[in-house]
Amino acid sequence: MVLRDIFILVLSLLLATPLFSQTRSSDKSKKYNKVGKLKIDTSFQASYLQDFMVPFNQCEDLKDCRIKVKTKNLKTTMAARPHFFSLFLGKKNRRYTILINKNEEFNGVLLKDVPSDARVGLFAHELMHIRDYNSKGAAGVMQLGFQYLSIKGKTKVEHRTDSLTIAAGFGQQLYEWAHYVLHDSNACEEYKSFKEEVYMSPVRILGQMEQKQ
Ligand SMILES: [Zn+2]
Repeated sequence: MVLRDIFILVLSLLLATPLFSQTRSSDKSKKYNKVGKLKIDTSFQASYLQDFMVPFNQCEDLKDCRIKVKTKNLKTTMAARPHFFSLFLGKKNRRYTILINKNEEFNGVLLKDVPSDARVGLFAHELMHIRDYNSKGAAGVMQLGFQYLSIKGKTKVEHRTDSLTIAAGFGQQLYEWAHYVLHDSNACEEYKSFKEEVYMSPVRILGQMEQKQ
């Protein structure tokens, strides 16, 4: 049973990792701007970059991380992933990718429609996934991958990531993001109910911010 689970996990990580995705060939044609070790796809809008740098500049621990930010067709607004093989090369050689959905047909939320403050909250959340991965060894990261296979596990991971975002001082922006998705965006109901089920609600975010004070 455990072996089967490991097999499924490895397979899902292989399929999910940018190393093996269909975008591999197009990835080569992508151009990146560099900010220290951070590499940013040139198609990533300058206005987003300003918002991205707000939380990134607060994350001293991520300054030495190899992070690539790039656009891709996704089934969610954004995602943060480790490169599977780099997990076995020691923490110094770890590589991570933050993906941004560029699919105009997506009926969830696209970054271009998100208000600036809420965007900062979302970027902070994705960076906290990387902080979380980076605090773990290869086995710990794989365990996170396991958790992601069920809704219950996914909810646990996302709530913890939201907590890390609040602890990092981006609770207000995270609240703006959560509130925007559920109450102001044009996202379809299916997307909204998924967000409601898996992520912290705006009220819970405020509650946790109060506890922190
Ligand atoms: Zn997340």
